[in-house]
Amino acid sequence: KPVQEMTEQAAAEEAATLRPQLRKWGQQYYDADNPAVEDDVYDRNYARLVALETAFPALVTPDSPTQHVGGSVRGDLPKVNHDIPMLSLGDVFSIDELREFNDRLRKDVATEDTTDEGFDYNCELKIDGLAISLRYENGKFVQGSTRGNGSIGEDITDNLATLPSIPKKLSRPLTIDVRGECYMPKQAFLDLNARREAEGKAPFANPRNAAAGSLRQLHVQVTAERKLETFMYNIADYEPLDTRTQSGLLDELAELGFSTNPTYQVAHNMDDVAAYIDQYQAKRADLAYGIDGIVIKANPLPLQRAIGATVKVPRWAIAYKFPPEEVETVVRDIEWTV
Ligand code: NAD
Repeated sequence: KPVQEMTEQAAAEEAATLRPQLRKWGQQYYDADNPAVEDDVYDRNYARLVALETAFPALVTPDSPTQHVGGSVRGDLPKVNHDIPMLSLGDVFSIDELREFNDRLRKDVATEDTTDEGFDYNCELKIDGLAISLRYENGKFVQGSTRGNGSIGEDITDNLATLPSIPKKLSRPLTIDVRGECYMPKQAFLDLNARREAEGKAPFANPRNAAAGSLRQLHVQVTAERKLETFMYNIADYEPLDTRTQSGLLDELAELGFSTNPTYQVAHNMDDVAAYIDQYQAKRADLAYGIDGIVIKANPLPLQRAIGATVKVPRWAIAYKFPPEEVETVVRDIEWTV
């Protein structure tokens, strides 16, 4: 039933059943790296809870999954505090919703004391892995961690140190926290699951869970064998860098020695964004790594800072989620048989 036609009482009842359900799915996904349902089932239920809470703001509870970065900190791994939190991303599922996000943001920016009113977006692929943070002191890799609950992550320095794509020393002696995604390439995932099945072990549900399970490991040797890769795309504080744009940040991170995804594009307007989406939706199946959408980010870094974030997501970025890949495969199969 559309939320606009609901009474607050009915909305409260539905929200009260959605919250524990989402929490339970979240625990299985984040704590055990073993999802009970497909992501789009989770996403649709989550979007419904957001819609209910938006229509009836009095229904928002502090413990609602909409108010927290999803994730957990495993008790047997050491903890790391993220002084600047690692956030999630708001998401949309249609170009219309994306245009609404753009209209809202441009209106907000117009009221800010900023010279960036005519800002561009940087379009990036949304890599289907798990978020990591890498700390460098005077250019030396000193600590690596998971996002955890956003404020407290898990210390997985030794695991991350085994990844060839993570530089142990930067080309400049900077003290920075660089953030990005750790993922398992599609082929490595297929090979790993084939091996596991041959050994009578349970296969991983998807590359994201395989990557998370492989990183959050007490046995560093296991991580080293899992062929994990990284794409870094963010920094906790941009001051030490020369650049002042998101697209420039990706270039500067690459110069410093990080692995970055080369497919980003600066978009001047929403038609450019829509073209980027079409382009990568078509290429998705042929990429060596999984993506579950694209992310658009206001390009000027000072503008990102001025706009800020909610408790859970930045206000200057949004993810456009692709439809689940299985559905596309089915459509393609049908086309084949016609
Ligand atoms: P999210 O994964 O949808 O989006 C935020 C994350 O995107 C960031 O933390 C970052 O790790 C990642 N990301 C990838 N590429 C990026 C880029 N270029 N720039 C910025 N960030 C990038 O949100 P979330 O809060 O981490 O998790 C929610 C997701 O987890 C949903 O997609 C949901 O389907 C899934 N989930 C599934 C279940 C389940 O049971 N199947 C349960 C809980 C959550």
